[in-house]
Amino acid sequence: MPGPPPSRRPRLGVMGGTFDPVHHGHLVAASEVAARFALDEVVFVPTGRPWQKSRGDIAPAEHRYLMTVIATASNPRFTVSRVDIDRGGFTYTIDTLRELRDLRPEADLFFITGADALAQILQWKDVAELWSLAHFVGVSRPGHALSDDGLPMDGVSLLEVPALSISSTDCRRRVADGLPVWYLVPDGVVQHISKHRLYAPAAVDGPAVP
Ligand code: ATP
Ligand code: MG
Repeated sequence: MPGPPPSRRPRLGVMGGTFDPVHHGHLVAASEVAARFALDEVVFVPTGRPWQKSRGDIAPAEHRYLMTVIATASNPRFTVSRVDIDRGGFTYTIDTLRELRDLRPEADLFFITGADALAQILQWKDVAELWSLAHFVGVSRPGHALSDDGLPMDGVSLLEVPALSISSTDCRRRVADGLPVWYLVPDGVVQHISKHRLYAPAAVDGPAVP
């Protein structure tokens, strides 16, 4: 008797980011790519030290990791990986993809990236190898032109996602200015930020007495 038909290879989305903090723009992008590309799972990968970001005041990796876990917990297809955090040092996407390919050799990888990051991709380390490790999906982002100029046509797809004009930089600034981030980031992330006093201006007289 013939056995069951061979099942197709799992399709694994990879959403890399600093996630400082994770916001609804990230979640909508991942959800839309998952639906349009029939992904079985999207793994969010918070960076260790992002090589592109010179600012030294990035929130500790464990907080960025925990906020990403909190934000994705309710979606059964979303998971979070510690590979970049645990590797230490600067994070390069090529290392992320090599490690995920070794961990999940049975899966096809789809790297999800916003229009701003896609525009920089030719400056990335070992760019030629990137296309062999994953299919790239560039998603629209308000304020950034979405274009695959200079990128290999069969290695990259472009996708228009619902426009959310949210950035982590703006969220951090809002917290520092005492403005709300409700509805820009998931409720649990608002609570994590406030509980751990992330992004607040340094207190002049030491920590406030509860
Ligand atoms: P920061 O302002 O600190 O750079 P960010 O909002 O750009 O933060 P990142 O962690 O740098 O967030 O981004 C991770 C990935 O998510 C990148 O590929 C980025 O282009 C994409 N992305 C971020 N915000 C959006 C958004 N609002 N819509 C679509 N894609 C987004
Ligand atoms: Mg960014």
